[in-house]
Amino acid sequence: MSQITNNLMQVKQRLKLAAEAAKRKPEDIELLAVSKTFPAHNVEEAMHAGQIAFGENYVQEAVEKITALSKLRPSLSWHFIGPLQSNKTKEVAEQFDWIHSIDRLKIAERLSTQRGEFPELPNLQVCVQVNVSEEDSKSGVPLNKAEDLCNAIAKLPKLTLRGLMAIPAPNPDSNLQRQAFAAVRKCFEQIKEKHLNDIDYAFFDTLSMGMSDDMEAAIAEGSTMVRVGTAIFGKRDKISV
Ligand SMILES: *Cc1c(COP(=O)(O)O)cnc(C)c1O
Repeated sequence: MSQITNNLMQVKQRLKLAAEAAKRKPEDIELLAVSKTFPAHNVEEAMHAGQIAFGENYVQEAVEKITALSKLRPSLSWHFIGPLQSNKTKEVAEQFDWIHSIDRLKIAERLSTQRGEFPELPNLQVCVQVNVSEEDSKSGVPLNKAEDLCNAIAKLPKLTLRGLMAIPAPNPDSNLQRQAFAAVRKCFEQIKEKHLNDIDYAFFDTLSMGMSDDMEAAIAEGSTMVRVGTAIFGKRDKISV
């Protein structure tokens, strides 16, 4: 069995055990395989092992892989999870199924307009990125600004608001990991509660949180999508994030 296939099985086992420990169903937590910096043939290997959803951070690199792999299997799902500049929104609007890293309305508006240029495509699925470790990161809106941004995004015609995404600062202490994820979950639940009968929020069901080193803590706090790179594909070169 290949290394990637083996790693994938181990990550799925971790997901299952973490779900069971939290009295949750493993199938309620989606595994996103983060393939940034790894070549298309590595993604293909994961695909042959049954993986369908992949996460990428760099537009150019991602588009090459998407193009190569869509020929083999059109049904893969591609998630953009990195910072996005306005001059790259067009490719994301055209190529991706999801984006997790929206923290500015202007980017969302561009994506909605540009998605509209491809009427055959379904809406782009969107998570708003929140910043729970404010001193450490420039990405993400503060928790107290998340709802306003969600409200505005939910009204854009070619985007479907799906939930919140967070990347807490790495922390070796699993209790502190959980605290950060719990704050995101609380924010998510408050927004959801406020918009229970709001058609704009009909698909607001996603908490994108947890990576290779903290997926257990994220699952314990309600994550519905973990984004796992290193534990599946191996260590990345230092230059990449
Ligand atoms: C790189 C990346 C991941 C994967 O991180 P690992 O620690 O390698 O699992 C997840 N989410 C985002 C936003 C990333 O940029």
